[in-house]
Amino acid sequence: MRVAGMTVVVVGGATGGAAAALLLARAGARVTVLEKVARSKAVGAGIAIAENGLAVLESLGLGPAIAAVSVPLSGIRVVNPKGRVLFAPPGSHPVMRMMRRSALQSVLLDALEAEPLVECRVGTEVTDVTPGGDVIARAGGRDTRLHADLVVGADGFHSQVRARGGFPARIGGSGITYVRAMVGPGLATGVEAWTEAGLFGSFPVPDGTYVYASARSPLCRRAADHTDLPAFRAAWTRVYPASAPILDAVRRWEDLLVNRVWTVRCPRWAIGRLVLLGDAAHAMPPNLGQGANSALVDAAVLLDELRRGDDLPTALAAYEARRQPAVRRVANASARLGRLAELTSPLLRGLRDGVVMPLAQRLTGGGDLSTVLQEAPDALRAIGRA
Ligand SMILES: Cc1cc2nc3c(=O)[nH]c(=O)nc-3n(C[C@H](O)[C@H](O)[C@H](O)COP(=O)(O)OP(=O)(O)OC[C@H]3O[C@@H](n4cnc5c(N)ncnc54)[C@H](O)[C@@H]3O)c2cc1C
Repeated sequence: MRVAGMTVVVVGGATGGAAAALLLARAGARVTVLEKVARSKAVGAGIAIAENGLAVLESLGLGPAIAAVSVPLSGIRVVNPKGRVLFAPPGSHPVMRMMRRSALQSVLLDALEAEPLVECRVGTEVTDVTPGGDVIARAGGRDTRLHADLVVGADGFHSQVRARGGFPARIGGSGITYVRAMVGPGLATGVEAWTEAGLFGSFPVPDGTYVYASARSPLCRRAADHTDLPAFRAAWTRVYPASAPILDAVRRWEDLLVNRVWTVRCPRWAIGRLVLLGDAAHAMPPNLGQGANSALVDAAVLLDELRRGDDLPTALAAYEARRQPAVRRVANASARLGRLAELTSPLLRGLRDGVVMPLAQRLTGGGDLSTVLQEAPDALRAIGRA
């Protein structure tokens, strides 16, 4: 079908929504992005974009801008608290770049603002949608009604498009909470440690260090409940001494982001003129670092299937059929990895470190990344450039 001339409303202007808006506009659609946050906060978190997500960003001509705000990551290793390597990805794959979330968002927002076929309305919250393509948006206390040929719900875990559009969904909590922060440069260990208190990772970003840690152990949970930074530091230092200099660099509890991990499973991603992508359709555990990457892949595949389909229902059904199994596989793999990383029983951890991880290392020796990447990066690059 012809994408040029279509009218599209994209709800949510973060990673998935911004990429979808840019891809559709470059293909000739007239796109309105509705984003409820007026100005994104300089959130204290980093994000790893892997070669599938990078391919989509490169196809939009954003490769140099992303390279300028990120650092390459190679050979991320999983270690035990003493530094013994439990798992090292084969060869130099997957290619990843680590950056501040705020930097990724700035690159995308600058591109949206420069795109002639995109109108970006920030501070605008969508409160209702219909499968017929109607959208009610509230800004400055006033409601506006919009209508579009296609409404893309890229509004994250709490998606209004999903809720108001009548999409059945299963929402789950993994029981895991992660704490994240950005501290000064030069502190990153470049490894993810699996300890009796869960995982602890620290990686470089330009001019800083991104740190994330599980808050699952009773001591860490209690510290989190009381926003008690010294107690949180002490709990981590006891199980993983290498964490001490990094957590010492966090000044106040308020500088930490605390996130419970939620999952979303939707049996349908398209109803009428509504389509879901990213966390709205499939929030997943973060352990494989594929949530935002999958949102970027969704955006590219959506454009690809719109171009291939004879009409909107056929195109959206093809998008759903192509993305759902791939996303289910990567979400399941990420959940398994998360459960392994968070094992608390000494017996099970011994089994994991002594048997499961060496076996996993041997089995992944061939370096097949198709489950993680979901679509070949070259194919993704070609979609955006077509
Ligand atoms: C601890 C942790 C670490 C992670 N690390 C990584 C990683 O390294 N790599 C990776 O790929 N992924 C990672 N993820 C996952 C990643 O953060 C998400 O998958 C990704 O942000 C999803 O992008 P999205 O665009 O679908 O949704 P979101 O980023 O949630 O964006 C949704 C947007 O919609 C807007 N919005 C919401 N409701 C409305 C409304 N009603 N009207 C208008 N606008 C609305 C919001 O303001 C927001 O801007 C991690 C997640 C966690 C919890």
